[in-house]
Amino acid sequence: MDLSAVRHNARRLQERAEPAALMAVVKADAYGHGALPVVRALRKEGVRHFAVARPAEGQALRDAGIDDSILVLGAPLRSQLPTYAAYDLDVTIPSADVAEAVVEVGSASAPLRAHVKIDTGMGRLGLPPDAAAPVVRQLADRDEVVLEGIWTHFATADDPESTFAGVQLDRFEDALAALDSIPACIHAANTGALLTLNGRLGELSAGLVRSGIALYGLAATEELADEIDLRPALTLSARVTQVKTVAEGTSISYGATWTAPAPARIATLGVGYGDGYPRLGSGRATVSIGGQCRPVVGTICMDMCMVHLGAPDDPLARRIEVGDEAVLFGPNGPSAYDVARWAETIPYEICCGISPRVPRRYVDSRGETPPEAPSSPTL
Ligand SMILES: *Cc1c(COP(=O)(O)O)cnc(C)c1O
Repeated sequence: MDLSAVRHNARRLQERAEPAALMAVVKADAYGHGALPVVRALRKEGVRHFAVARPAEGQALRDAGIDDSILVLGAPLRSQLPTYAAYDLDVTIPSADVAEAVVEVGSASAPLRAHVKIDTGMGRLGLPPDAAAPVVRQLADRDEVVLEGIWTHFATADDPESTFAGVQLDRFEDALAALDSIPACIHAANTGALLTLNGRLGELSAGLVRSGIALYGLAATEELADEIDLRPALTLSARVTQVKTVAEGTSISYGATWTAPAPARIATLGVGYGDGYPRLGSGRATVSIGGQCRPVVGTICMDMCMVHLGAPDDPLARRIEVGDEAVLFGPNGPSAYDVARWAETIPYEICCGISPRVPRRYVDSRGETPPEAPSSPTL
């Protein structure tokens, strides 16, 4: 994991978001990249707003000493509200019921900071646009709550062809126009909206841009990522744990779905779907090994997968030995977009899916931190 890439991406996003400030979305362990190292790197770039999905994620950042603003994007359960108060987490208010509960749990001496969420078309969380004004008015009058922000979320902003994000923005602006007073933080854009709705976002008073995936150097699609200068931060690599020569007709892995068409040199890698390397990549994926591209053959197992290095006399096949590294994806191998295509999903899911057992290793331009544990796959 290259933290200097994360810092580079944050600078590019800050430039693009101007005059809005960047709210770094670090939910799901910073999309599998490691929330704490990412937050620390982002703080060096002046990022002071963070967002997570669940209160426990915010609590973990507070426990680690992060004292910047942390918005929890998910809807709170009533039983979780004391955690927001105890850990100074900003709460999302998606309904009149939650607004009421927040007023009850907050106190004038320790008010809860709240962001009212309006559902303009995502259909997930939030008040209908025409129901927001009474809730906002009710909260503005209370000492138990500080009304910090109002926000919405786009359903189709990743698609430059879609006009629906514009419709959602219209609805959001109408809802804001119906309010007596506007809180300090107005936010709507995710990465996709920042890249596709550029011109129109300026209509919102300078607020926040909630960006996640681009911090990690990716976007929903490669075409969208081309809109801005990003550097993918994550490399998933694994070591060769065995190399062997097999005869023509030898079958490889579960289901014996692949059979060597000729004598072949096969490397076994210590990575599998238990690490988040998707099984749907079986028969589709390639890896970078010894600086060259080679196919994964047979079914990807939980802890291992096999790579066809070539014929036994192939120069690369002769060179690869146990302990050598293969790149499953990252700047020096296939891309996260490639893996997502093989797995019929989006790069978000590939990154988030890297399992906790994979040791994370962080590098920054200032040097490398030692790995946490010696094991085969590393980020
Ligand atoms: C995850 C999330 C984001 C970040 O989206 P990206 O596409 O990663 O930039 C922003 N807002 C909300 C509500 C989210 O859930």
